[in-house]
Amino acid sequence: MAVSAAKSRLKVIVIGAGPAGLCTATALRQEGHRVTVLERRRDTQPHGHALVIQPAAVRALQHLKGAHKAFDSVSVEAGALRWWSYKGTKPFAAPAASPSERRFQTDRPSVQKVLHELAVANGAQLLFGRTVQAIEDVAEKPRLWTADGEMFTADLIIAADGIKSATRKIIFPTQHVDPIPLRESIFLTSAPVSQLAQDARLAPWLESATKHGTLGPDRFVLSRPMHGGLLGVQFIDVDHADPGPVDGNWNTPADVGLLRTRFSDFNAITRAFLEHVRHAEKWQMARGAELATWRSASGRIVLLGDAAHAMLPHAAQGLSQGIEDALSLARMLRWTTKSGVDIPTVTKAWVNLRKPRADIFMKQSTSNANVWSLPDGPEQEARDEKIRQMGSRPPPDLSGVEMDMSANQRTPQFLKWARDYDVVLESERAMENVLSGL
Ligand SMILES: Cc1cc2nc3c(=O)[nH]c(=O)nc-3n(C[C@H](O)[C@H](O)[C@H](O)COP(=O)(O)OP(=O)(O)OC[C@H]3O[C@@H](n4cnc5c(N)ncnc54)[C@H](O)[C@@H]3O)c2cc1C
Repeated sequence: MAVSAAKSRLKVIVIGAGPAGLCTATALRQEGHRVTVLERRRDTQPHGHALVIQPAAVRALQHLKGAHKAFDSVSVEAGALRWWSYKGTKPFAAPAASPSERRFQTDRPSVQKVLHELAVANGAQLLFGRTVQAIEDVAEKPRLWTADGEMFTADLIIAADGIKSATRKIIFPTQHVDPIPLRESIFLTSAPVSQLAQDARLAPWLESATKHGTLGPDRFVLSRPMHGGLLGVQFIDVDHADPGPVDGNWNTPADVGLLRTRFSDFNAITRAFLEHVRHAEKWQMARGAELATWRSASGRIVLLGDAAHAMLPHAAQGLSQGIEDALSLARMLRWTTKSGVDIPTVTKAWVNLRKPRADIFMKQSTSNANVWSLPDGPEQEARDEKIRQMGSRPPPDLSGVEMDMSANQRTPQFLKWARDYDVVLESERAMENVLSGL
């Protein structure tokens, strides 16, 4: 590693004004760096559905001035998740939510709006209608070109260009890094609670601060309140169809009739809700390829957010990991200014810190989908029994528990690591370790 005279401000280009890119831009501006965001669309992308920002990402956002207040204003109370069988007339388990876990239960359009406003307020330069087409990974000053032929240079390029990241293909030209399309599709629906409240059959789903998971063979349904007085319901069809190419646009209209047919063997409450649905969007699922690293050969181009670790949504961690990426990278780059550590050394330490954590959530999101869509039979009965037992106990007290990322995912040690992890503190420790190894 190299240490040179401390730099005061870095020139950083962020590719992509999705939530991860915008969060990164704001975090870097708050550290005093010059930041330009290049986004191929003409405006920020307003599509999406219910989304939870998990406790560890909420903790990280304490370091982004203005974020907590803004997210509070677009969040609803996050309560307990009640579990139903697709054949059941009432929940079979209702584990209590732990009072110490703070989440932002919100939705993607609101997240996008909040992070866009923060990036603008903090002075990031946002350039829309710029599609990045070519990148040159030269030491010291990597360069890129947009489709219109504009050239930009920077000390560091951060590619937050989503699941179909073009940067990923450019910096790893000989590796198979395309996203992997899956048979799973998710149908996203929502309806105003005021309208649904007229239908007594839906009362259990409308109780305040409750979320509901309904498990059936090959399919499951998640319902939760959303900002703006809406109930958001996601219909997950794990074995929907042979996948086409990865879309990555998140707004394909779905056939509501087909959705009703596919879930016609689900319980009365699910079918009642579907009677109210007039419009649905279909997201064909894909996941990111396993990458060996998230940085280019020079160490001055990094992948971040879904570009680095696109995962299924069933651990509700995709964006939360993007937020952790953003706040940790911004904090670690402080060492370039305060101690003169060079950028490639920082990005190496950052990937070493971040990738193992995101990799675990990638695996967890796939395994959750498998477990929640088991066919009727002994495995499904054992799963339901475990959930029932969890529901009969108070939430685990994690105060004296040691974090363990390698522990089984249902243990308090793993839960502690998933929820109470402090990515900014860990970033500081990682950089202190780098310095002590000099
Ligand atoms: C159904 C569902 C539910 C989810 N629920 C949760 C949840 O509860 N909690 C959670 O944490 N996460 C959740 N996620 C995941 C979350 O939505 C994503 O992880 C997040 O949106 C990714 O943000 P991003 O900024 O990395 O990528 P994106 O949102 O994909 O943004 C990438 C941006 O880059 C731009 N771009 C692409 N290529 C170029 C180019 N060449 N030049 C310039 N710009 C470019 C794109 O236009 C886009 O604006 C969910 C996802 C799904 C599908």
